[in-house]
Amino acid sequence: MALHDRVALIGLGLIASSMAHAMREAGLCREIVGHARSAETRATALEIGLCDRVCETAADAVEGADLIVLAVPVGAMGAIAAEIAPHLKPGATVTDVGSVKQAVITAVAPHIPAGVHFIPGHPLAGTEHSGPRSGFATLFRNRWWLLTPPEGADPAAVARLRALCEGMGANVEEMDAAHHDLVLAVTSHTPHLIAYTMVGVADHLRRVTQSEIIRYSAAGFRDFTRIAASDPTMWRDVFLTNKEATLDILGRFTEELFALQRAIRLGDGDHLFEYFTRTRAIRRGIIEAGQDTAAPDFGRAAEATNGTGKG
Ligand code: NAP
Repeated sequence: MALHDRVALIGLGLIASSMAHAMREAGLCREIVGHARSAETRATALEIGLCDRVCETAADAVEGADLIVLAVPVGAMGAIAAEIAPHLKPGATVTDVGSVKQAVITAVAPHIPAGVHFIPGHPLAGTEHSGPRSGFATLFRNRWWLLTPPEGADPAAVARLRALCEGMGANVEEMDAAHHDLVLAVTSHTPHLIAYTMVGVADHLRRVTQSEIIRYSAAGFRDFTRIAASDPTMWRDVFLTNKEATLDILGRFTEELFALQRAIRLGDGDHLFEYFTRTRAIRRGIIEAGQDTAAPDFGRAAEATNGTGKG
């Protein structure tokens, strides 16, 4: 049964296009209207049938929509909210899929008119690919979709959005926005920064990069390069807007790194062994929680069959 009659997707990249496929497959809405910044993306969305209609402006796209999904980089959310605000239908729900929650709430909430529900969200699913052709219907299956409804949010609107996310295969949890940003700084944002750094280090070793690193890249470095291939705009905005939590975790990371560096210098094998034993247990916990498989993956797994829990 369709949960929302008309859904407007603002931004037509990886997340929005995956939502379009997933919503269609599960019959969760009657009509999908889309908007993206460039004429090229809008044309692609029409060509591959992502949307029933595509509009040149976000304001036109949200007219008469029951659910509006802001699926643009975090830094672009505020301006879009200001543009669409006068065009929102009373009783409609606005949600977003941004990787940071407090900054999106600060940028978007002031524009939302009375009588329109704003329920921020974040699917913990993604790949390093972007754009309207990168989406696939199973991206959210068995992944978390975190909702951060403000105090006093309409329970019926929250329940409808929750059911939509569950209809796309996700497991839904509600969480405070500040807590979300801290958790994601640990599980996603800082790891991305570390991957970007490691690939940057290799890039500085030009002599090696040009030949051996590409040729002999092993699982560790190859995994870093996959993460470090993620969309630069999206990740720039994540770090600019989740500044405090990321800097907190980076500080802790640096302390641990120094401790490991010292253990290596002093030849303290016990320290290294004990440390790696603890981290191995975390990997087991992730597998037991169903968030990854124990199958060996040397970077050869078929693409687009499995979200990577990014973002
Ligand atoms: P994406 O594939 O790079 O697509 C972004 C889309 O937003 C494109 O359609 C782009 O249009 C549009 N856009 C950018 N700036 C815009 C503006 N000022 N006005 C209108 N449209 C604009 O991005 P994505 O990976 O789907 O990410 C979208 C959101 O989801 C981000 O907030 C991100 O933090 C969040 N998220 C991402 C992941 C992930 O792993 N990728 C996971 C969870 C959440 P053009 O194509 O015309 O430029």
